[in-house]
Amino acid sequence: MKVYADNSATTCIKEEVVEEMLPYLKELYGNPSSSYSLGVTSKIGVDNARHEIAKKINAKESEIYFTSSGTEADNLAIKGIARLHKYKGKHIITTKIEHLAVLESMKCLEKEGFLVTYLDVDKNGRIDLEELRKSIREDTILISIMYANNEIGTVQEIEKIGGIAKANGVFFHTDAVQAFPYIDIDVCKENIDLMSISGHKIHGPKGVGALYVREGIDFLRIQDGGHQEQNKRAGTENVASIVGIGKAASMLDYSKAQDILDVREYFLDRALKEIKGCKLNGDRENRLPGNVNIQIENVKAKDLLVKLDMCNIYISAGSACTTSSSSPSHVLKAIGLLNKEAESSIRISFGYDNTKEDADYIIDNLKRIINEITN
Ligand code: PLP
Repeated sequence: MKVYADNSATTCIKEEVVEEMLPYLKELYGNPSSSYSLGVTSKIGVDNARHEIAKKINAKESEIYFTSSGTEADNLAIKGIARLHKYKGKHIITTKIEHLAVLESMKCLEKEGFLVTYLDVDKNGRIDLEELRKSIREDTILISIMYANNEIGTVQEIEKIGGIAKANGVFFHTDAVQAFPYIDIDVCKENIDLMSISGHKIHGPKGVGALYVREGIDFLRIQDGGHQEQNKRAGTENVASIVGIGKAASMLDYSKAQDILDVREYFLDRALKEIKGCKLNGDRENRLPGNVNIQIENVKAKDLLVKLDMCNIYISAGSACTTSSSSPSHVLKAIGLLNKEAESSIRISFGYDNTKEDADYIIDNLKRIINEITN
């Protein structure tokens, strides 16, 4: 048996998505900027994908900009807004638990003279709305707070955060790379000005993302070159992958998120009851449906992962992007875990394809391996 339960790291690409992409990798190779029919066909592929994504989040097609990744969408939103609007002010608000795509963009802006407030989170990973309100200053131009966290799955009160930003005349960006696969987002209702998503978290291809920017909000591009994507993202479009992210978005069926939650809850009930010294990191509610982040006393996550891999179980310790780093997760530290607790924490992220049998297979092997390690 093989169990892939690392859907926060990436998801398997759907067959229908591959089928949709293939013609654009073969015969439909025109450049979408070319005016002859082969080029126009590619442009139609890109525009259809734009339509699908816009429809999914209640946006207009002209509000969607394709990028090379969720990372690039975050960079473009944060740097693009900050650099254009710096004459209004140079203060930005974010949180301590953002993805590195956001945190490193903030660091870059700090070097350019911006001032960044990093909000604390509580033990469940949520920010305090009152603290957010208090941290807004005369010169605040941007609030960037992730929709859902990639390690502990915490979902923030996005609509309220958006409302606070709006009431104070501050732009609001949210990194929805982890939320978009499972939560039906309405950018208008939720007061979201800018939002990042990624292809490979929604059973689409890797290396493609999109940024939503509300109509009327201007931002600077971060890369020089041609006039693609309304002159905001230079570079010939990755047509096949854009077609892929569009198809994957169109196939998202949020009504099935409840099934993922059922698998997660079944897994957690068993884990907390049957694994000695097992504790859930973060809140059981306000969490992405498939996210499990647990610490297991006296066990090193690194050792567990190697042994789980040997029985074809694919999960992770923290986020995939930081597994090469030896320091404990900044997210787990921000919710108050000691280094030792963070180092014994694993993340299991169930997705649309996982079943209760998968949960059983993971639990049974976890119990066996923990027994081997601790005895
Ligand atoms: N933001 C969050 C919350 C993520 O989890 C990730 C990827 O793990 C990214 C941004 C980066 O997306 P991409 O892998 O498309 O660069």
